[in-house]
Amino acid sequence: MRTKLVAGNWKMNGSLASNAHLLAALSNTVFATLNAQLAVCVPYPYLSQAAAVLAGTPVLLGAQDVSEHAKGAFTGEVSAAMLADFGCRYVLVGHSERRSFYGDTNESVALKFAAAQVAGLTPILCVGETLAEREAGVTMQVVSSQLDAVLAKSGVAALSTAVVAYEPVWAIGTGRTASPGQAQEVHAQIRARIEQADPTVAANLQILYGGSMKPDNAAELLRQKDIDGGLIGGASLVAEDFLAIAKAA
Ligand code: PEP
Repeated sequence: MRTKLVAGNWKMNGSLASNAHLLAALSNTVFATLNAQLAVCVPYPYLSQAAAVLAGTPVLLGAQDVSEHAKGAFTGEVSAAMLADFGCRYVLVGHSERRSFYGDTNESVALKFAAAQVAGLTPILCVGETLAEREAGVTMQVVSSQLDAVLAKSGVAALSTAVVAYEPVWAIGTGRTASPGQAQEVHAQIRARIEQADPTVAANLQILYGGSMKPDNAAELLRQKDIDGGLIGGASLVAEDFLAIAKAA
């Protein structure tokens, strides 16, 4: 039985003051009422603030990107070992905003995924198609090539210590959500693809849905057989909404 994971992606939002408020609300939750593991992926400068406030709570810490390199002359980059130093458990790799604005490719995402695992982090591999790709009927080809790059570099066993997030690009930050049926269909296809390589890894793999998940649509999405949690952007900035989604899991 897969446990549910509800992970917040704060994106480039927050301040010391607003984070203090949000983190305090998260850390004061009655965790016993939740069926889901919680995590927050915060901007790099706020890792130590989040680690301090969340210490002793079950909320796990994550970052939003990582360098493919271990160390050296890569100005502006942050290594996986640095994230581990700050108590990160998770790191997003291949978020669609990194792919579309910062040139991440399937190959560089595969390198980031591998670098994260070398440092003991659990990568959350983000995959998903654009609207044009969905309309052209190539959703699964796109998602498969995103997965295959990681499988080619790290092998299927690497997915036993990773999470996949299916995030249709057309649903991220748009208020437009995939219907539970549309999301379930892709999640099932992702699991089936992994199953061909390793049925046990596939059965245990957490596959999150991301894309305008909100308190009012979370329960039905999270009820789908192959949806094992959510990657939450906008709604993770409001403690009440993020926790309502977690409660729906
Ligand atoms: C995301 O950034 O991963 C995301 C799912 O954003 P939103 O929930 O705002 O669509």
